Amino acid sequence: MKIEDLKVGNTVFRQLGFKHFEEDFDVLVKKGQTPEVLFIGCSDSRVVPDLIVDSKPGDMFILRNVGNFVPPFKADNDFHGSAAAIEYAVSVLNVKHIIVCGHSYCGACQALYKDLGEEVGLIHVRKWLELGQKAKDYVIKTFGTTLSQEEIHRKTEKTSVVYQLENLLTYPEVANKVKDNTITIHGWYYKIEDGSIEQYNQKTQKFEPLE
Ligand SMILES: [Zn+2]
Repeated sequence: MKIEDLKVGNTVFRQLGFKHFEEDFDVLVKKGQTPEVLFIGCSDSRVVPDLIVDSKPGDMFILRNVGNFVPPFKADNDFHGSAAAIEYAVSVLNVKHIIVCGHSYCGACQALYKDLGEEVGLIHVRKWLELGQKAKDYVIKTFGTTLSQEEIHRKTEKTSVVYQLENLLTYPEVANKVKDNTITIHGWYYKIEDGSIEQYNQKTQKFEPLE
């Protein structure tokens, strides 16, 4: 799709899509947004949150970043975009659920196994990918000698989701709300090859089909 197509696309949207959701938008403008879900997904163009769960405008507050990573809570004076989105969803919007959704064929997880060199053009990517390091270390230690590289990538994508859930709990307000059951956190894994989603079961420590 080219940029010109996007411009035409907005015209089409205003004629069709916007009309379809016109009443919803009207309510959302007048009453504001009250999404129950914070969806944390990857920036990957193939993972389109509202499309894969058939949700509407106003349903989900969405945070997308490279690798669907959750940086640990760090109350310093720096610019923390992902943390700000989490904080806003939890403390202002009062979401009831937080979904961390990984996905198959994730470039961020694959990049964990590559040497990105020292170029200045990737300075932030290199740092950001440290958030996947624990998942990589675990997968190599546990499956490094038994699985193919592709299988290792799939395992890393899923394992990373579990570590990102742990990082979510470093946010004091998230931890408090999970403790008093006003927030539930979910680890999901979306398969771009067939559109299905699996969810992490804390008890069995396995990903199971979403029902
Ligand atoms: Zn990805």
